[in-house]
Amino acid sequence: MPELPEVDSARAVIERTVLGQRIVAIEDVDPYVCRPHTAEDFESGLVGRRIVRVMRRGKQLWCETSPLRGQGAPGPHLGLHLGMGGRIVVTDRSGRVVPDGDSTHGLAGEHQDRWDRCTVRFANGMALRLVDKRRLGRVRLDPDVAALGPDALDVDLREFRRLLSRGTTSIKARLLDQSVLAGIGNLLADEMLWQSRISPAKRVDQLQPTEVAALHRAMRQALRRSIAAGGSHTGRVIPARHGGGTCPRCGAPMRHGTVGGRSTWWCEREQDEQHG
Ligand SMILES: [Zn+2]
Repeated sequence: MPELPEVDSARAVIERTVLGQRIVAIEDVDPYVCRPHTAEDFESGLVGRRIVRVMRRGKQLWCETSPLRGQGAPGPHLGLHLGMGGRIVVTDRSGRVVPDGDSTHGLAGEHQDRWDRCTVRFANGMALRLVDKRRLGRVRLDPDVAALGPDALDVDLREFRRLLSRGTTSIKARLLDQSVLAGIGNLLADEMLWQSRISPAKRVDQLQPTEVAALHRAMRQALRRSIAAGGSHTGRVIPARHGGGTCPRCGAPMRHGTVGGRSTWWCEREQDEQHG
């Protein structure tokens, strides 16, 4: 499932390939994925404008657009949300994926358009596509990002401490709450808790200052590493998240349970709440 690193990869693909290009058509508008907007809403809002900036906050991605013919007000933001398994693919004039044009690092080649949920066509023949078999992604004009917390990559230790300080919920639930901190999903949360040897069930009000500092460090490292390595699935503890798995650091059995409403794995020895 896309977390901050996957969405950042999608942002980088768009920035690398179609920044500055003029939009000439919007196609494949899936009424479910694109609701409440119609194909006409997208056409009248975006055609003739250029993508001038590609932004990301947590898992929300959006493209800022230029004024028409360089005059007047800027256009609407084109919001792209990857949902549970969506990706961004950019193709050339002949319909082939451009080099580094797939946010999941797929191979270049002929693009199969079966799962295209929205396609933005540009004057130079390129096309930006939201590809999403499960239809849980979303395309929005002027997406509302005000309800999202700060982006996890931007949060310094002082702010992180403040975000974690309120209430008595488990640390795992708090990390997944996008209104508090935007971008951390299930895999990244398990990875950073394992890296810092903290029980996922530990209440936020019982975290020691040294634990909060270790968790903040682990978050920054996990984000940087997974962006560089190609996604949240590349974390060190991720291969051990299965029955019979053992901790890659100390060899103790991995334990499994539901924490913060999500399937959670932790090291029985090093992340035990009694001793942690
Ligand atoms: Zn361990």
